[in-house]
Amino acid sequence: MLLFTPGPTPTPEIIRVAMSVPTIHHRTPEFEEIFKIVREKLIKIMNMPEVLMLASSGTGAMEAAVINLCKSHALTINAGKFGERFGKICNACGIAYTELKYSWDTPAPVSDITDAIKANPSIDALCIQICESAGGLRHNVEEIAEAVKDINKDIMIIADGITAVGVEKIDTANIDALITGSQKAFMLPPGLAMIGLNMEAVTKIEAAPKGFYFNLASELKNQRKNTTAYTAATTLIIGLKAMFEVIDGIGFDKFYEDTKNRAKAANAALETVGFKIYPKKPSYAMNTVYHENAKEIRGIAKKKYGVNIAGGQDELKDKLFRINNMGLIAPHETAWALNAVELALDELGIRDYDGTANRVFVANFFKGAK
Ligand SMILES: *Cc1c(COP(=O)(O)O)cnc(C)c1O
Repeated sequence: MLLFTPGPTPTPEIIRVAMSVPTIHHRTPEFEEIFKIVREKLIKIMNMPEVLMLASSGTGAMEAAVINLCKSHALTINAGKFGERFGKICNACGIAYTELKYSWDTPAPVSDITDAIKANPSIDALCIQICESAGGLRHNVEEIAEAVKDINKDIMIIADGITAVGVEKIDTANIDALITGSQKAFMLPPGLAMIGLNMEAVTKIEAAPKGFYFNLASELKNQRKNTTAYTAATTLIIGLKAMFEVIDGIGFDKFYEDTKNRAKAANAALETVGFKIYPKKPSYAMNTVYHENAKEIRGIAKKKYGVNIAGGQDELKDKLFRINNMGLIAPHETAWALNAVELALDELGIRDYDGTANRVFVANFFKGAK
């Protein structure tokens, strides 16, 4: 079965092998050396001066960032399940928040956010997804962050980059906290979350530490010394080191370029066989299609052709399908996933199969064809 969901993504064999070592103790020079290498690499990849690794899924890092960086009132952007989650975190943690809600295919307009900030001077944090995975939507986070900082540079920009880090090079000029997780573009098993921080965020965290397990001030103190406040996710960090070695072998620029080209080629293929790409601004992390028969298409792709693609969530559960594009994906795998979807259209009597999806994908990916 090919796992083609936008998280978790399949863990390559070379990474699984790297992790198949006896557990080493986290308070040892051997592990601290590994931690240091991964930490320094993450600082580079995230383009942030500081980074923290947490033993949790991505949501833990979202909660940690919110409680440590929002002291008064959050502005949350809800254009899908993950944006909605920021509001739920605020609610659970007793943090006042204002939510701007959008259809899942629609990027948040910059002016809505600047208007909300001007209307409420107590807002001290903006929580937004770079890619909102519910609809495969790319928000204009860089532009939004710049506009917010123009109004008030003390407003913390908390960017959920869980399906953006490792997908594309992110401009972090105006981002204070950049969150990611292990099971998306880095192709590890779930359980490791990462937060890149700039020095303004570090200052804010150290001035008023908050939380216990997610007290980022105590993590900062420890992780600067290449250890963690609590037991580190040692095996996942070993896997991450191996993954970075693999990507370095390709070159990060090439890795990002392949991801972008594959995303565009797959969208072109899907459109040519009659699909509508769902988000108005698609992220390169996944190919997201709206179709009345999305559920049936997924069922056939999985059962008959061994391709596990994701559906939608909530009211779009049966109307969207999402094909992962994060990580190291061989073009023939994406070609096969697209071919399976085209075969499903034939089986449902929607469109006769003629191999167009595969041909258009391959032509676009390798030849830059239209
Ligand atoms: C996967 C994902 C998360 C985190 O989910 P976890 O299940 O907690 O790892 C958060 N935000 C986005 C945009 C995601 O895609």
